[in-house]
Amino acid sequence: MKSIIFIVVLACSAFTGLGQKKAKASEAAAISAATVERVAKTLAADAMQGRAGQVGGVLAAKFLAAEFNRIGLDKFPGLTSFEQTFTAYETRTTALYVMLNNVPVAKEKTVLVTGQPHLNWAEDDDPAPRVIVLGAEANFNKAIRPLLEPTENTVVFIDPAHQEAFTRLSRHLQGGQLQSQKPGPFSTVLAVVAVGNNPIHYRIAANTTVRPVEMRNVVGVLPGQNPERAEETVVFSAHYDHLGFLPAVAGDSIANGADDDASGTSAVVALAEYFKKKNDNARTLVFVAFTAEEIGGFGSQYFSRQLPPQKVAAMFNIEMIGKPAKFGPKTAFITGYDKSDFGKILQRNLAGSPFRFEPDPYPEQQLFYRSDNATLARLGVPAHTISTDQIPTDKLYHTVDDEVESLDLKNMAAVISAIAESATSIVAGQDTPTRITNAGSIVR
Ligand SMILES: [Zn+2]
Repeated sequence: MKSIIFIVVLACSAFTGLGQKKAKASEAAAISAATVERVAKTLAADAMQGRAGQVGGVLAAKFLAAEFNRIGLDKFPGLTSFEQTFTAYETRTTALYVMLNNVPVAKEKTVLVTGQPHLNWAEDDDPAPRVIVLGAEANFNKAIRPLLEPTENTVVFIDPAHQEAFTRLSRHLQGGQLQSQKPGPFSTVLAVVAVGNNPIHYRIAANTTVRPVEMRNVVGVLPGQNPERAEETVVFSAHYDHLGFLPAVAGDSIANGADDDASGTSAVVALAEYFKKKNDNARTLVFVAFTAEEIGGFGSQYFSRQLPPQKVAAMFNIEMIGKPAKFGPKTAFITGYDKSDFGKILQRNLAGSPFRFEPDPYPEQQLFYRSDNATLARLGVPAHTISTDQIPTDKLYHTVDDEVESLDLKNMAAVISAIAESATSIVAGQDTPTRITNAGSIVR
């Protein structure tokens, strides 16, 4: 689950004839609590280093690929491995100096967004960069957002009234920016400083490295068994990445991300195992563990371009199911409940069961937009997130204390069983949720 931050734009059953054998197999299939526990514990172990970067991220992906192989999933069309690799570009500014009217602007009041390795600017350059003065009354987000994918060289002097919004943005950008496309040869320099009414004289110098970073989703497929439905896919997803290392608290600096989202990822593995055993899915099932959710959703963005969205009948995205929901054990909630009839279908499939799914009780948290479902929802897919997290009071969220010991593994396995059951008619091709036409975006 992403924090709410300034988002950088950098971003009919066909089986009636199959007889007794199939029916027996279906009855035998159950979510394996042992798999849920083992996968959650492995992903949340310190050895995974918070599942970020080229060590922890790669280890986690290899582990999940081995799980998909063990279960006997097929490879995603066009891939020769369970890893769906792609390249993103990381830019890291190593030096940035801004002088305004011969006075240096403090480092923490400057930010550079660039694809250029070196900058050496002054107001008398020809051509000179565009200069924008952002007054106290301006709408910070609206003004700054388009400048974060620069298409010309721009210097923005920002009134100190926007310090807070600037700090939020700067914190988000610090430590390197990731983009799905190689950044173009332009730059935006932001500096929080009062310019007054004097003519502006400035000098700007900066050094930046841009390097390609290999990223990987882990994807496995169970082909649909009904020829009339097999072209349609149902996606079960969760993000396996987490935050890596955070500032140490009591000697612990590893953000294990047990709930966020080792819990959801263990659900994807357990569901893959379940549906493989059940062996009667009419539609094609795609199981995907996304990378880079926490840092901008790059994994789901790449994935969404590798299949025709109009053929995705539904997406079950699973986020933070490790602790019981506010409605009690064996319950969960569905984000964006009103955006399609996906939630109603799931509820219907659970009627008479010990499980209960409710609409998201925290709409003000905008959870619909804070996970990978949003990317596919914007393409029309009924893509929703299922979660149990009591996010307004979850003190472990995005801390080094999100450890496996804080999870209720028994309830987690129950919720995953509920997800399996709630998906029955969609997997069987009997129900098709309405498309999302009003995905919209996060409201600030
Ligand atoms: Zn998160």
